[in-house]
Amino acid sequence: MLRNLRFARQLVPSSAPAATACWNRGFAASPQGSNPMVTTSGVQRDPPKDLAGVLDESAQTLFMTELFRGMMLTLKAFFDKKVTINYPFEKGPISPRFRGEHVLRRYPTGEERCIACKLCEAVCPAQAITIEAEEREDGSRRTTRYDLDMTKCIYCGFCQEACPVDAIVEGPNFEFTTETREELLYDKQKLLENGDRWETEIAANLKAESMYR
Ligand code: SF4
Ligand code: SF4
Repeated sequence: MLRNLRFARQLVPSSAPAATACWNRGFAASPQGSNPMVTTSGVQRDPPKDLAGVLDESAQTLFMTELFRGMMLTLKAFFDKKVTINYPFEKGPISPRFRGEHVLRRYPTGEERCIACKLCEAVCPAQAITIEAEEREDGSRRTTRYDLDMTKCIYCGFCQEACPVDAIVEGPNFEFTTETREELLYDKQKLLENGDRWETEIAANLKAESMYR
């Protein structure tokens, strides 16, 4: 190590005072004239300056007290409450306001909530939603096409805020990665299936947030 330092010093040209000054700043002793020592516990401290300090330091080295203190710390961490979880078998809590995968919801009767007002399509800043609609025989207005390009979506939540009947909602599901881009081009059928799958959680989340909407 010392030989390497000497060799490196020889590489610094004598005509380069700035470089030498830089070298000195990096490797010179601390302002008190001593290099700080870093202990195994990561604490930085100055080397001992008197006999008692030297004896104390030597005793610590001889009896490896820092090693045992470090091992005690490891043992304590072993029995402490774990902060990590075994994902995907365990999952952390998610806020009721979490904006995940989109769903289209139905009423308890099974009827689609969406009335094809196209407010979500108009408000979407990413232009990810495409809707086509026509009137049914009973006079109600419903979508014939509801496409959502999840690769464009920025999960801003504007669509669900604009919806007057809570039809389009961003649910709690965040595990919808796919292998191909095409799988992220959702159609109405896919969104309705998502809604059927997550209705219980979404209804509970909307109820929990009803005071703030
Ligand atoms: S979350 Fe935002 S970007 Fe995504 S579909 Fe809704 S409005 Fe568009
Ligand atoms: S999802 Fe809501 S905002 Fe969008 S068209 Fe249907 S009713 Fe209108």
